[in-house]
Amino acid sequence: MDKQQTSPSLLHHLDNLTRHRDSTLLQKSVMDSLIAFVSVDSIRLYDISSSESNFYISLSAIYKKDEPHINEFEAVVKFKPLSEHPLFIEILQNTTSITNAKVGNLYLCCIPIMVNDTPISIFELSRTTRFELTEIDVFRGILAVFRNYLSLLEDSQRDTLTNLHNRKTFDQGFSSLLEEMSDFHTKSEEAQPTELERRSRQYSQQHWLAVVDIDHFKRINDQFGHLYGDEVLILMANIMRSSFRRHDRLYRFGGEEFIVLLRNLDEETAYERLEQFRKKMEAYDFPQVGTVTISIGFTMVTPSDSPSQVIGHADEALYFAKEHGRNQVQRYESLKEQGLVAEKTVHTDIELF
Ligand code: GH3
Ligand code: MG
Ligand code: MG
Repeated sequence: MDKQQTSPSLLHHLDNLTRHRDSTLLQKSVMDSLIAFVSVDSIRLYDISSSESNFYISLSAIYKKDEPHINEFEAVVKFKPLSEHPLFIEILQNTTSITNAKVGNLYLCCIPIMVNDTPISIFELSRTTRFELTEIDVFRGILAVFRNYLSLLEDSQRDTLTNLHNRKTFDQGFSSLLEEMSDFHTKSEEAQPTELERRSRQYSQQHWLAVVDIDHFKRINDQFGHLYGDEVLILMANIMRSSFRRHDRLYRFGGEEFIVLLRNLDEETAYERLEQFRKKMEAYDFPQVGTVTISIGFTMVTPSDSPSQVIGHADEALYFAKEHGRNQVQRYESLKEQGLVAEKTVHTDIELF
């Protein structure tokens, strides 16, 4: 390859890559860069999730040479046990990449992406001819930039106590959700979607925002002290992570207030997920403290809403939950239909319950 010709466009790609502040967009941009610099038949991006030392994988995006778009999945494919993918067992157990593995008539290169020593995804490139060493160097290089940048991004966006996303990143997360929705609406107007696109769109219709608040947290602090209070917050964050998918966004919004952005779910499933989380909290035996419950208010996110409007609605449902016994999940729209909450004027300065 001619260095002088490739350098500007490589720089252009790296510049593009490091512009993103959203890890999903960043991943898409990485796939674009890989496609530009290495000739491949397909690239598959797998998300990795781990629970009790078992790994699970889910195909989250796929590029095929003959198809113009990168297809994204998310809700369509559920996390599967790793045993269905023997190649990945070796990769994840030894945190190593695999190059030129022959599977059928294809050569595969699989590279895991590690953030803070945890594997979060695997890029799998395939084609019918062997990958040259120089090509492998190129995509290793691109993925190294991606990994380093992603680690930096993740660190700056996390709350130090719970490691959930911090409030600062909420606006960004919310607007990328809205962008995704308007993308969906534009794409829907295009003619003849492929079967894959049609299937994935079917799930990309409803997004939800939930405000979660610990019940009587002040009492916990008063009775057991702040250290135990902090421990409740840390353990609660772990329960949260195990209750939602990697694509759902979890924020510590204030002291003992959290926000969950649930993507691509119908109303019933969104309610079930939140209810499941509430029950898990209630069932957990917190050291010393014992039982801790939470109240949740949630609402649908629509493209015309501002973050403060959406939070305001979820907050009203939360307020209702607090007023009606706590330890429950309430949905704004259904309270409104029943005339139990009234539309309020929205203040730009949001104050959660
Ligand atoms: P309610 O069920 O009505 O929500 O009651 P509550 O006691 O949870 O509500 P309130 O908002 O009165 O109290 C919240 C408490 O959370 C007050 C504050 O001391 C505590 N808190 C806020 N941030 C932290 C934190 O980071 N660590 C600890 N330990 N406590 C915190
Ligand atoms: Mg509270
Ligand atoms: Mg509160």
